[in-house]
Amino acid sequence: MKDERTLYIVVPCYKEEAVLPETAKRLKKKVQTLLAAGKISDKSRVMFVNDGSRDRTWEIISQLHEDEPKLFSGVNLARNRGHQNALLAGLMTAVNHADMVISMDADLQDDVDAVDAMVDAYHKGYDVVYGVRSSRKTDTFFKRFTAEGFYKLMKGLGVDIVFNHADYRLMSKRALEGLAEFGEVNLFLRGIVPQIGYPWTTVEYERHERFAGESKYPLKKMLAFAFDGITSFSIKPMRLILLLGVVVFAVSILMLLYALISKLSGGTTAGWTSMMGSIWLIGGIQLLSLGVIGEYIGKIYSETKRRPRFIIERVLNKTE
Ligand code: UDP
Ligand code: MG
Repeated sequence: MKDERTLYIVVPCYKEEAVLPETAKRLKKKVQTLLAAGKISDKSRVMFVNDGSRDRTWEIISQLHEDEPKLFSGVNLARNRGHQNALLAGLMTAVNHADMVISMDADLQDDVDAVDAMVDAYHKGYDVVYGVRSSRKTDTFFKRFTAEGFYKLMKGLGVDIVFNHADYRLMSKRALEGLAEFGEVNLFLRGIVPQIGYPWTTVEYERHERFAGESKYPLKKMLAFAFDGITSFSIKPMRLILLLGVVVFAVSILMLLYALISKLSGGTTAGWTSMMGSIWLIGGIQLLSLGVIGEYIGKIYSETKRRPRFIIERVLNKTE
């Protein structure tokens, strides 16, 4: 059966010269088998997004496009904007040409073979297909611990995300058009996509080790990402502060009563310890609270500026 539905595979790349040739090879094979099986149209292709890398990444992408313009496309961002924005740039470019788009990392950690199941799910009528990691055997203990802790924390804070799903997913054209309606600057795709709605399902896959090159997500970036995810989707931290304030207030009234009673009964002591303790405690809570509030105000600040999330320098995509 021949199908006229076009698939674009969008791959954000930041300094991925070490792995790109292999990624291109495997994705090419994948597109060709899907094509041979009649599951996608012959306009389907792989779209690499260069996220302002200063190594040979863009050169490699341009070369791939030159050699096989009907198979490889490229989007070059004006500068490095981070994984989420690079991915969005690719998705928003691909949506104009594709019926379904799969997003995938360049480092081959996501099992390329899960693509088949995603495309099948699309043909069954699902608009969003989340790739879900079946195990984290290849991750270091630290990465596994922090990542799973992150998902649990997000759930606890009431953010609707799919457990153990990163940004490996298929989205239909209409789901992407829905995504385009979300204009926020602080982008956290994993939190936004479930909000779009439409029928969705999951596909399990094994996560491998990075094929080559090193992770572009050191601990610092991971923490920033987690923090962004939480503050973009949940106002619970602010509510917790309020709760903390109420509790501390109640405790201080009890303390006051206690102090009065002990004074009246004549058993006063120097009280240095409790004094110091409470000063530090209150000071700490206040600083913490200010910090959290500041974080949200910072978000408001960057949202009101409405700055573009990405600027595309050039698109290499031959559709004819
Ligand atoms: N990436 C990007 N811009 C960045 C950092 C990363 O486009 O500023 C891409 C990177 O090339 C890869 C994906 O995002 O395709 C995920 O990055 P990485 O594999 O380094 O993260 P990890 O898998 O270690 O969390
Ligand atoms: Mg990776």
